Amino acid sequence: MPKEVKCVVEECVYNQNKLCKAEAIEVRSSGDMSVSTSDGTACETFKSQEIEQLQ
Ligand code: SF4
Repeated sequence: MPKEVKCVVEECVYNQNKLCKAEAIEVRSSGDMSVSTSDGTACETFKSQEIEQLQ
């Protein structure tokens, strides 16, 4: 795991000042299973701040 994970997904509960504060993250291919650029990947650990606030 890198020392620091920069992430601009500020809608995620783990995001603080554009840094990921999760203990670990999981990244998967994002749908079509044909990954040839970073656009084909997605963070599986993402958790919505909005949904968290509703619970
Ligand atoms: S869990 Fe994923 S989406 Fe959320 S802040 Fe970390 S890297 Fe970004």
